[in-house]
Amino acid sequence: MLQLNNLKKQYDTGEWALKGIDLEIPNGQVIALIGPSGAGKSTLIRCVNRLVKPTSGTIHLKGTELTSLSSGALRKARRKMGMIFQEYALVERLTVMENVLSGRLGYVGFWRSYLRKFPDKDVKEAFRLLDRVGLQHMADKRADELSGGQRQRIGIARSLALKPEILIADEPVSALDVSIQAQILDLLEEIRDQMNLSMIFITHDLRVAAQVCDRLAVMRYGE
Ligand code: ADP
Repeated sequence: MLQLNNLKKQYDTGEWALKGIDLEIPNGQVIALIGPSGAGKSTLIRCVNRLVKPTSGTIHLKGTELTSLSSGALRKARRKMGMIFQEYALVERLTVMENVLSGRLGYVGFWRSYLRKFPDKDVKEAFRLLDRVGLQHMADKRADELSGGQRQRIGIARSLALKPEILIADEPVSALDVSIQAQILDLLEEIRDQMNLSMIFITHDLRVAAQVCDRLAVMRYGE
């Protein structure tokens, strides 16, 4: 369960991007955030993953209050959140497998990951996830050799490598052709159903929201 209470964010420019958001997302629920550009959608999800520090209010993820955590505790809490981005945010020169394993960086120590020595069980799990997203046969290809849809599948597998409690997706299909969008949405739907994950999903597209989401939150002017 993710719970936001009276969440506010004022940027240094003086602008209030969030004006007191209350939102509760039970386990397994998928919620779409929609609304015009500048409404505060990105600010909201950045407050949840704490790329942005809220001005006031609270954020509880499975009982942990996120806004008051020390940096070490915050790093741990971030492992509970899988991020999926519009532009995939892959490391292009690395293989598909290495990109998925990079999702484990929060768990594997820096030097160990730097030397690319991931534990066998992580490698096994990464193969399972690649299978899950239909890319097992591509494990050794470089990320930049794959199509947009395949790259987003890597992004999804990487986000699941953290074994997250919530998936946060920022326009995950808007860079893709419509036919490919449908495949990725089907995959996200399957994941939702099988893994009982909560998801927050920013989208501009109501059809996308209708297919994958249980609930819509409409934002405007930070409300
Ligand atoms: P959305 O994701 O709905 O397009 P944003 O959360 O990006 O909305 O933006 C909400 C408001 O906050 C906008 O008016 C935007 O200009 C402002 N804003 C966003 N990021 C910053 C920032 N880093 N510094 C100052 N203002 C920002």
